[in-house]
Amino acid sequence: MSALPNCPKCNSEYTYEDGMMYVCPECAHEWSQDAAADAAEDERVIKDSNGNVLQDGDTVTVIKDLKVKGSSLVVKVGTKVKNIRLCDGDHDIDCKIDGIGAMKLKSEFVKKA
Ligand SMILES: [Zn+2]
Repeated sequence: MSALPNCPKCNSEYTYEDGMMYVCPECAHEWSQDAAADAAEDERVIKDSNGNVLQDGDTVTVIKDLKVKGSSLVVKVGTKVKNIRLCDGDHDIDCKIDGIGAMKLKSEFVKKA
């Protein structure tokens, strides 16, 4: 048997399935299984090196020298990067750095400013 999620309202563990819905017998809350799946997908959280959650528009600081692929440029440790945009992939931060231009960073090499 697969475990059903607890009720998001009262946290009851007696949730049962009714068609495509989940139902809580304790507070009568009903919610769709699709919504639960969507929420799980949206939960892709990108964190900085300290474990802080990053969001679009954040300013971060680079915590180590990073070579810019295909050039001799280096993003120096301590460089402030404003207005980041989170994206998918191995490099999960899209940004523009003064003097370098648009590039992608890995969230593990930055910290929230
Ligand atoms: Zn409930």
